[in-house]
Amino acid sequence: MAKKITLKVKNKFINKYKNGYPLLLREAILNAEQLKKEGMLLRLADENNRFLGKGYYGRQNKGYGWILTQNENESINQNFFDNKISKALNKRRSFFQDKTTTAFRVFNGEGDGIGGLTIDYYDGYYVITWYSQGIYAFQDYVLRSLQDVTAFKGIYQKKRFNTGGKYVEEDDFVTGVRGEFPIIVKENGVHVAVNVNEGPMTGIFLDQRNVRKAIRDKFAKGKRVLNTFSYTGAFSVFAALGGAEKTTSVDLANRSLPKTIEQFSVNGLDYEAHDIKVMDVFKYFNYAFKKGITFDMIILDPPSFARSKKHTFSAAKDYKDLLKQAINITEDNGVIAASTNYSGFGMDKFKSFIKQAFKETGKKYKVLEEHDLPEDFQTITAYPEGNYLKVVFIKKYSK
Ligand code: SAH
Repeated sequence: MAKKITLKVKNKFINKYKNGYPLLLREAILNAEQLKKEGMLLRLADENNRFLGKGYYGRQNKGYGWILTQNENESINQNFFDNKISKALNKRRSFFQDKTTTAFRVFNGEGDGIGGLTIDYYDGYYVITWYSQGIYAFQDYVLRSLQDVTAFKGIYQKKRFNTGGKYVEEDDFVTGVRGEFPIIVKENGVHVAVNVNEGPMTGIFLDQRNVRKAIRDKFAKGKRVLNTFSYTGAFSVFAALGGAEKTTSVDLANRSLPKTIEQFSVNGLDYEAHDIKVMDVFKYFNYAFKKGITFDMIILDPPSFARSKKHTFSAAKDYKDLLKQAINITEDNGVIAASTNYSGFGMDKFKSFIKQAFKETGKKYKVLEEHDLPEDFQTITAYPEGNYLKVVFIKKYSK
């Protein structure tokens, strides 16, 4: 690792960093030209060279890297990584002990003290995600820490930064024994087929665990459920297991059809009793509205940004309209589960979209429950953007 340089923080950002803000914001740095090689260690100081923190240089969409410690005497070495990783694993002890859930997050970036790095656990397989070339420079430390503190079947990795080359599947395997995928993990007793060597997504978004459980245990019984942006149909499977009369899954991606069939099948459910549509959600809403098709429950979980042939969707601009389309085909007294993982706005803003959408459709509503990230997705109060997940269950009334 290269020599440590000092980055100077603009005056107006100093308090933010004193209060533990972990991300090196581009606009906060005075001398960014000092940044040379990703992975280099940095000292952060105010304009008078007073110490603020130590971190590393790694470009991610939002910044130049992450602060790792506010303690001037703490070194960033193997010991540092050992401590953070073993502490994180300890915090997940109850997850490791729970036989009904065998997939969860064991290390959540800045929430566990190292921004740019996440580690997920899938029944003995660990999946490390590197969010920058910079954090990837610490690969040896991370691997050693993980190998020292835990038993595993295999370790895989995802590089979520531009590697300059084509995506190579083989790159994903790091050490241990290769799995035969899909492996079947469990979540609250439900089977989920997981692939850790098929690109960035594994088949399940672990952060929605509590939402899936709520749908199964409290909302699905006897309901006709529409699951939009359904991906591998995880919400549909939980709804079906919770006694939904029928589920309809809609996703644009061709892969969603075989993947959804697979998730139904590994739970012994007859997928033919459900609808799985490979289709643009916006088109589906128009179609359903014209045909007078309605649902008792609609799940909305769009990506923050999406582009299809006819449509660009951005959560910040278009969520309200998406809600209106859903409201139009939800039965009175039906429920909409509205979810967003967009970190650019918080719960209050999200609720204002909900309020506005109901206002514009002339319907009344009540918020039944709210969710944010589950416990294994540790966050810190100094970095509220890290708590990106917002899910609201809304009951629609007739007037
Ligand atoms: N709700 C899912 C995750 C959604 S991921 C779950 O909990 O597992 C986002 C999905 O939206 C992707 O599968 C993508 O194919 C799909 N998607 C993006 N734009 C779409 C559109 N216009 N219509 C339908 N699906 C879309």
